[in-house]
Amino acid sequence: MTIERTFVMIKPDGVKRAITGEIITRFEKVGLKLVGMKMMHIDADFSKKHYSDLVDKPFYPGLEDMIVSGPVVAMVWEGAKAAMLVRKMIGGTEPHSALPGTIRGDFTHITYDRADATGGQMPNLIHASDAPETAEKEIHLWFSEADIFDGYESVLSKLM
Ligand code: UDP
Ligand code: MG
Repeated sequence: MTIERTFVMIKPDGVKRAITGEIITRFEKVGLKLVGMKMMHIDADFSKKHYSDLVDKPFYPGLEDMIVSGPVVAMVWEGAKAAMLVRKMIGGTEPHSALPGTIRGDFTHITYDRADATGGQMPNLIHASDAPETAEKEIHLWFSEADIFDGYESVLSKLM
């Protein structure tokens, strides 16, 4: 079985909503192992590095404004096919279309239309790497190896 790491970031809107704990609880309950976590307030340069594949998109300016608007909680979670699992748990990009039971589907409901009407920002609470390769790239951008603590045994690790 392939155990992999994935990168997750609670965006400023999620931190301000005070649901950081509820989100972490969901990842703990499913059996993922927390191996890195920190709070950061990133600037525009860092946003462009993180979203390097999206900087030319029309929605990027609104995304950047949102992501630098407050602190974020950055995390690394480990588990079997962790990137795919976490993407399933956060739900689709547009919260209104995200399925009930997902983080975006349960805690917010903004639509693309509404985002356009309110200046192009679409707060959807959370970011997660879309594939294992992206995850490794994002983990290296946000964390040094000294900030990763995978040398402990999670009580759930035998179940994964
Ligand atoms: N986004 C947006 N409008 C769009 C598409 C994306 O505001 O039409 C924002 C949204 O916050 C999203 C982020 O840009 O989470 C990154 O977009 P991506 O397509 O990578 O979605 P994700 O991987 O976050 O689901
Ligand atoms: Mg993405």
